[in-house]
Order: sequence, then C-alpha cells, then structure tokens
Amino acid sequence: MLILAVESSCDESSVSIVRDGKTVLSNVVLSQIDIHKVYGGVVPEIASRHHIENMTIVFEEALKQANVTEKDIDLVAVTEGPGLIGSLLVGINAASTFAFAHNIPLLGVNHMIGHIYSANIENEMKFPLVALVVSGGHTELVYMKDHMSFELLGETQDDAVGEAYDKVGRMLGLPYPGGPLIDKLATQGKPTYTLPRPMIDEDSYDFSFSGLKSAVNNMIYHMKRKEEEIRVEDMCASFQQSVVDVLVSKLIKAANDYQVKQVLIAGGVAANKGLRTRLFETIKDKEIIIPSMQYCTDNAAMIGAAAYYTYKQKGALSDYILGGQSSLDY
Ligand code: ATP
Ligand code: MG
Ligand code: FE
Repeated sequence: MLILAVESSCDESSVSIVRDGKTVLSNVVLSQIDIHKVYGGVVPEIASRHHIENMTIVFEEALKQANVTEKDIDLVAVTEGPGLIGSLLVGINAASTFAFAHNIPLLGVNHMIGHIYSANIENEMKFPLVALVVSGGHTELVYMKDHMSFELLGETQDDAVGEAYDKVGRMLGLPYPGGPLIDKLATQGKPTYTLPRPMIDEDSYDFSFSGLKSAVNNMIYHMKRKEEEIRVEDMCASFQQSVVDVLVSKLIKAANDYQVKQVLIAGGVAANKGLRTRLFETIKDKEIIIPSMQYCTDNAAMIGAAAYYTYKQKGALSDYILGGQSSLDY
C-alpha cells in the first residue's frame, strides 16, 4: 500500500511517500525555524501562512523524489491533531483537496501516534513495549500491548520537556530552539549547579518540568544580582542531567512494572544525545529502539508509518471531519 502523508501541525511543512508503513520513498521537510527564530518561538499565525506557501512545493517534491504520480497512491494520510489549529488546517485542506481531486481515500492520523510509529520505520516494534514520547508539546509514557493499542501511564502535569528546554535556552540567551544547543553545550560543561529532579521519587509515572525551569530562572536571577559569572555550559549540563535522571528513572520503573520486551523513545527530545547515551548505559535487559535524528522531529514519514496501522484498524474516512484531538485520544 502506497501512502502519501502530510504533516503541518507546528512549523514543519512535510510530505512523504511511504510503502506499507515501513519503506520511505521520500520525506520532504520544509522547516520554518529560521523564520520563527527572531521571535524566540513559533508564532502560530505566521506558521499557518508559511504552510500555505510551502505546501504545494513539498507535495510536488515528495512525488518527484519518490518517482511516483498520484495514480500510484492508495491512501492520503494527514495529521489531524494535536497541534496548532491554523497550521493543521492548511495540511488538512491540502490533503483533502488532493485526495478528492484524484479520488483517493483519506485518513486522519494522530500526531503523537505518528511520533511513536517513527520508531517502527528503521526498527521493528516488539510487544509489550513502553514508549516515552518527548516533544515540544508532550511528555508521555505509553504502554502498548500490541499495534495501535495505547494506554497512557503518565504525562507531564505542566510543561513538556522540549518546552522546558526551549525556555531554559531562552533564559541563557541561546537562539530558538534551545533544545539542540543545550544538548551540545552540556557536553562541554559539568553538572556543578544543584537543581531539583521533580517527582522522581513519587510513585507515579507523571512528570513535572515547570519547577525545574523556574529553579534555573531563579538561579540565573540571583547570580545576575550578585554579578556572579554564569557558566552556561555547566548550567546546560546541570539542567540536562536533572531532565535525563527523571525521564530515565520513570521509564525504567514503567518498563519493569509492566515487564515489557522493548522500550521506545520518540519525539523531538529523543534526538537528545545525553538521553540516548544514558538509556543505553542503564537499560541492558531490554531492547531500546529510537528513531534516527531525521524521524525524531516533525516529519510526514512518521505520519505515513502510523497511517498504515491506523488504516488497518479503522479504514479510511471519506467524510473527513477535523478532529483537533487532544493527545489523550489515542
Ligand atoms: P508535539 O509533537 O508535542 O506537538 P512538536 O511537534 O513541536 O511538539 P517536535 O518537533 O517533536 O515537537 O520536537 C521539537 C522539540 O524537540 C523542541 O522543543 C526542541 O527543542 C526539542 N529538541 C530537538 N532536538 C533536541 C535535543 N537534541 N535535545 C533536547 N531537545 C531537543
Ligand atoms: Mg518543530
Ligand atoms: Fe511533534
């Protein structure tokens, strides 16, 4: 089954051609990071406008790179949520129009299921598994006993990890998005600043990152007042260590409690080298699968991968309705 997938939930306009949920024939991603950088974060209205400009370009380029035409496509899949409503609408309209014009069935796909299934492109999911989905808007621990079976074990009570990274980056005067830069600077510093590890000892799979973010903010504020030098690399290393400690400890707890075969990490923060390294150092008795960098941050290939399994479960929707789902609607 050849799927044309569309992703536009945030600030990446992307179209991908995927065969049977596994083979990526093309994955064209136009990122707007440079446009939003000047504002220090994604501006929703500006993102929607750029999606409109980019959409036809990524459609044409994805078909060209895959060396296929609309006649070869069996299913059109599109991210229906969660995400920025204006951005989602551009992708949904483009996908609906393409599907209608060429008489191809259409299917809405959950963005977070997309992140999870990004790990199934280069590796094989083995069940039961526990997935840690860490991105700009979500931090979730999900138990899967089979394909398309999702049990939300825990999630953040406030900020998502990626969001905390980006906000701490901003406090340290780093350009948007702070995540990748903090990761890089952390390797050049030492975790010499004492920061909290929120909810690490609590008997739950939930997370909280806003207190950690505030702790960094307060520390910077007091050091500035006392005219102390802020060692940026050390602050990055300290923040990253706190984050990784919490994420890995909750993940191990869930993996043991649910006696899983595999642990899966996905989402933009799964690109984090500190997190990847620590996982492979500490989890020896279970297989770990993490998508390669290109499939961690937003891309349409992951939507094509998830669409294949979503289609098997519920078929295509001909009368397309915008879902605007929350992440809980797995
Ligand atoms: P969601 O998927 O929850 O809707 P999103 O789509 O905006 O949110 P992603 O594109 O999956 O999020 O991920 C982007 C986030 O990943 C940003 O917050 C970014 O800072 C973070 N990120 C990317 N690379 C790294 C890294 N190496 N270390 C830490 N964070 C990173
Ligand atoms: Mg993005
Ligand atoms: Fe995402």
